[in-house]
Amino acid sequence: SNDKEVIVDEDLTEKRPTKVTFNIVFATSEASPYSKTGGLGDVCGSLPIALAARGHRVMVVTPRYLCGGPSDKKFAGAVDLDCRIKVSCSGGIHEVAFFHEYRAGVDWVFVDHPSFHRPGNPYGDTYGAFGDNQQFRFTLLSHAACEAPLVLPLGGFTYGEKCLFLANDWHAGLVPVLLAAKYRPYGVYKDARSIVVIHNLAHQGVEPASTYSNFGLPPEWHGALGWIFPTWARTHALDTGEAVNVLKGAIVTADRILTVSQGYSWEITTPEGGNGLDELLSSRKAVLNGITNGIDVNEWNPSLDEYIPSHYSLDDLSGKIECKIALQRELGLPVRPDCPLIGFIGRLDYQKGIDIILSGTPDLLQDDVQFIMLGSGEKQYEDWMRATEAAFKDKFRGWVGFNVPISHRITAGCDILLMPSRFEPCGLNQLYAMRYGTVPVVHGTGGLGDTVKTFNPFADEGKGEGTGWAFKPLTRESMLDALWVAIETYRKHKSSWAGLMKRGMERDYSWDNAAVQYEQVFKWTFIDPP
Ligand code: ADP
Repeated sequence: SNDKEVIVDEDLTEKRPTKVTFNIVFATSEASPYSKTGGLGDVCGSLPIALAARGHRVMVVTPRYLCGGPSDKKFAGAVDLDCRIKVSCSGGIHEVAFFHEYRAGVDWVFVDHPSFHRPGNPYGDTYGAFGDNQQFRFTLLSHAACEAPLVLPLGGFTYGEKCLFLANDWHAGLVPVLLAAKYRPYGVYKDARSIVVIHNLAHQGVEPASTYSNFGLPPEWHGALGWIFPTWARTHALDTGEAVNVLKGAIVTADRILTVSQGYSWEITTPEGGNGLDELLSSRKAVLNGITNGIDVNEWNPSLDEYIPSHYSLDDLSGKIECKIALQRELGLPVRPDCPLIGFIGRLDYQKGIDIILSGTPDLLQDDVQFIMLGSGEKQYEDWMRATEAAFKDKFRGWVGFNVPISHRITAGCDILLMPSRFEPCGLNQLYAMRYGTVPVVHGTGGLGDTVKTFNPFADEGKGEGTGWAFKPLTRESMLDALWVAIETYRKHKSSWAGLMKRGMERDYSWDNAAVQYEQVFKWTFIDPP
């Protein structure tokens, strides 16, 4: 035969590197599992791993918090790199050490300084926020994050100057400012780029103008951070409102801006959602994008979850009923598998719409339902939860505290998850809920509006699209209406409910999705700089 073997040089085809890879440096005040108070910790604990798995070299720079409690153990795997730097800021010269753990393909770098060794959480203790967060602790973090790629020989080699900094929220907001003001004038980091990632615009690092001198920045950069308090926020008639705003400095100096959902990236350019920065953000629209967060699909997996009593999946949902029964038993509610069980998990804060829950709960509890809330935060809301529990023993449970195992059991055991956030950059609990077959009822804002598609029980004979209900506007009435539609669908339209659960459980929530979009933005940052 004249069949000839075709020889393909695989080395020249398949294996040729076709992908651009980056040296990425996350600067963040939280990274799960080392530290977490909210979604920021989740993102900075997961996204770096997803990016490293796609071939990038990734470092996360975050404080080594030692609070004197059990959480200190989380840092046990990190070793002292024996590399000290001296940071000139806040009226002195401060020695900072670096600890390091290489895990899941990522260099986790922990900034060590006595100011990070305090009882409490990363930001404060029972008396409130630490007074030196902006003026010292996170100033130190930002300086250290800028030095780390230059000085730390990780795996034998430093990251070097050509890296991409991701400055997360205001705590790391000085990073792009420092690149522009402290390094580039001396020819350092000329090829570096920076992106400020906004997880929550409600916090901006605003303090009186006098704090500027603590940042270790040249005086002529004051304008980048300069800020005027609105009149209503001033303390007395002679107060000129002069302030500095760290996040503003980051927005002005970073190469690009990212937020954690597309809906939120638009909202922050409007007066209603911009928290005073809408005009500035609008002026930078050309470099502003939103990418919806993924979730940790290993931690949040109903067929593997170590915190829940029975496992389940789309093929066999019987474990979900067992989780519901176990949850009712654990919290001392009447064990009633058929009774609609509604859950809430989150910070007890104005942002989360707790006031709307508060005003709607008496009406909601007229119905034959059970309602469980897990959260901590403002004392008035904690007190209200305790009082409501006392008044409605058979219907309401209010768990005051931050408890990850319980949050998993509520996510698994409930039928409906309520999230009436006033604004929500992305929101994670609605994503966890859908993955666990728990149907979200949310205020259609920011990331909630992007991720929860409203189900119309009257369309397509109940076989319609949709994974939950996103109601608008944020009022007691529209929340109750949405809840009642959900409750009635649960009670009377079993096949519609099964479809809702199925569509939620089938979705792809992995970080890979988000990581691909981040890569695209990284390319724009380098190839097409502003
Ligand atoms: P935010 O970052 O505004 O607090 P997100 O929905 O983005 O809101 O993320 C909140 C994260 O914190 C989720 O992982 C949620 O489960 C968790 N969480 C919030 N409150 C509690 C609590 N009381 N107990 C356990 N986990 C909580």
